[in-house]
Amino acid sequence: MAATPERAPAATTRRKAGRHRGEGQWAKGHFTPLNPNEQTKKDDDGLNVRTRIETIYAHRGFDSIDGADLRGRMRWWGLYTQRKPGIDGGKTAILEPEELDDEYFMLRVRIDGGRLTVRQLRVIGEISQEFARGTADITDRQNIQYHWIRIEDVPEIWRRLEEVGLSTTEACGDTPRVILGSPVAGIAEDEIIDGTPAIDEIHRRIIGNPAFSNLPRKFKSAVSGSPLLDVAHEINDIAFVGVEHPEHGPGFDVWVGGGLSTNPKIGQRLGAWVPLDEVPDVYEGVVSLFRDYGYRRLRTRARIKFLVADWGIERFREVLEEEYLQRRLLDGPAPGQPVERWRDHVGVHRQKDGRYYVGFAPRVGRVDGTVLTKIAELAEEHGAGRLRTTVEQKMIVLDVEGSRVESLSAGLEALGLQVEPSPFRRGTMACTGIEFCKLAIVETKARGASLIEELERRLPEFDEPITINVNGCPNACARIQVADIGLKGQLVLDKDGNQVEGFQVHLGGALGLEPGFGRKVRGLKVTSAELPDYVERVLKRFLAERADGERFAT
Ligand code: SF4
Repeated sequence: MAATPERAPAATTRRKAGRHRGEGQWAKGHFTPLNPNEQTKKDDDGLNVRTRIETIYAHRGFDSIDGADLRGRMRWWGLYTQRKPGIDGGKTAILEPEELDDEYFMLRVRIDGGRLTVRQLRVIGEISQEFARGTADITDRQNIQYHWIRIEDVPEIWRRLEEVGLSTTEACGDTPRVILGSPVAGIAEDEIIDGTPAIDEIHRRIIGNPAFSNLPRKFKSAVSGSPLLDVAHEINDIAFVGVEHPEHGPGFDVWVGGGLSTNPKIGQRLGAWVPLDEVPDVYEGVVSLFRDYGYRRLRTRARIKFLVADWGIERFREVLEEEYLQRRLLDGPAPGQPVERWRDHVGVHRQKDGRYYVGFAPRVGRVDGTVLTKIAELAEEHGAGRLRTTVEQKMIVLDVEGSRVESLSAGLEALGLQVEPSPFRRGTMACTGIEFCKLAIVETKARGASLIEELERRLPEFDEPITINVNGCPNACARIQVADIGLKGQLVLDKDGNQVEGFQVHLGGALGLEPGFGRKVRGLKVTSAELPDYVERVLKRFLAERADGERFAT
């Protein structure tokens, strides 16, 4: 089945097929697949692979998996093959994909809005211990990611996750991925508006719906009513940011076309104000527009940011309003500037109901099944059973009475999870890297963790907010371009002329206050071994030369 274009909407069928295949836009009648990924999606919808996993692959094992399912459609259910151990970064670009494939999988659990209950976290922890050799990373998109998953165990993992209301549906693939939400939605004292009902309605309408399961490329989204701007809205395909309209009250400012990786772009404001109950309509309109008008010729030009850049924001809004919403949107104000640079909610903060939330920092998002189970115990003992993940690879326990904060903080510290971390632990993120990622060139998680330890030892007096994002390849999974110090993994030459693991350095990127991309410092590459020395030098120089109130990025 599939042949997804047959499901295309009225706007598509109204138009006659053009004579040229152009950019592969369905809305212009260009239905002929223009690259192998589009052909795979046309041959069969990614969502349909679940039945084959449950009825065939889980019984017959890894070798029975069809190639197009293995390297394509399985992503629609959050599954990627992981990198075969022991293959160094120099081989990443040389070997065929099947030579890099291990017979184990990475499995991503989507956690929309980062919302977790104690029961869900316990199940996540148990699955990690039983099926994932204890692995569990908190990603910078509020997901939990496992490794070492066997295909035989996938149906049982789904059963356990779904029993507690979690899923891996469209956690990867050319789909509407996890919907980011403010980690303090509904509880923060300074909240402008709680976007949670909109996230739930978008999920209900869109996720797992075959009308939206064949997009030109991934579609990332975020909803936050926090004045801290805590979901990296600037770099999502669509984002709804809380604002107060002078006449209509609290609602959302809409952003489209943000994204990193190649050709990074900060999203643009539509200039429209949307009330809470209309957010799902606008989301549906934008994702439909992307499905119909998005470019399907080249994978590297398929994200919605390219369409927005080519059309301009006025035309984008006009097409959205005329063809998809059939009405005009109200104009609205821009979000205010966040009052501080940290947006991760780490530390102890008062809730609007007088209780507290307690944010804590693992190192570079790495935890494990045992630790997650113990966090669930602590949250149950000290709170009301609710937790959140953040977009900075951190976690939060909600609803803690003032008298219980100290005991919770001590319990977390005993697990190595700090409530008052150094700026280095707080501000350093790392992507998956060469340990498991087939695209990686260098190691990242262990490198990031050891960098934190070195900097804590060498610069104990440093107390500025600083972000250090460690990426294993030119992709931007850990948001290399928007960090104070962005590190892009590549092979570099050491002083003896040998090729070794290292990083291209980007300096001065930021989100929030004055968002922008870091400058790629020409020729500035460091080997992994030299990294702590290099970062120490940069930070010492900043401390010595900064003017009053100067941020690292300026
Ligand atoms: Fe893999 Fe590269 Fe993404 Fe890191 S940035 S997870 S190495 S694709």
